[in-house]
Amino acid sequence: MRALNHIAGILLATVGTVFVLSSVALFYDEDRDVTPGMIGAMFVVMGLLPLGGAFVLLRATVTAPGRACPQCGGREQKPAGVLRRTNNQWLLHLFGWLFAALWGASREKQVRCNRCETLYLTDTRGTRIAGVLLWVILLLVLCGVTVQLFENR
Ligand SMILES: [Zn+2]
Repeated sequence: MRALNHIAGILLATVGTVFVLSSVALFYDEDRDVTPGMIGAMFVVMGLLPLGGAFVLLRATVTAPGRACPQCGGREQKPAGVLRRTNNQWLLHLFGWLFAALWGASREKQVRCNRCETLYLTDTRGTRIAGVLLWVILLLVLCGVTVQLFENR
């Protein structure tokens, strides 16, 4: 159920972003044949509502507690401070710095257990938010590529 909520949340966020962006683009398009009222309605109903739904769906998965310590089961942890550079060079070349930065931020972080000092990997609120953004941007790029393919026919 949680995974389903997560996927639905990401899809809703993508749909909302598409319609927010296209209503802004329509608003500044001088050849448009729709009234500002219709654009406003599209902005709210197709843009803001899905974004609100995405927020509700994703809140549970994003704020869920991270992994417990494998040694003692403790939930208290602090960043281990061992910085692992996870930026992929080929990702950087293919999709640019934003994608590579989000990819790096969405990877699991090394933390240190407060009770027994064990080092282990876990996801955090930050890595999950970066993961959601990564998916939304990826889907937006895919939408854009698909639209361009059809327009070129
Ligand atoms: Zn521990």
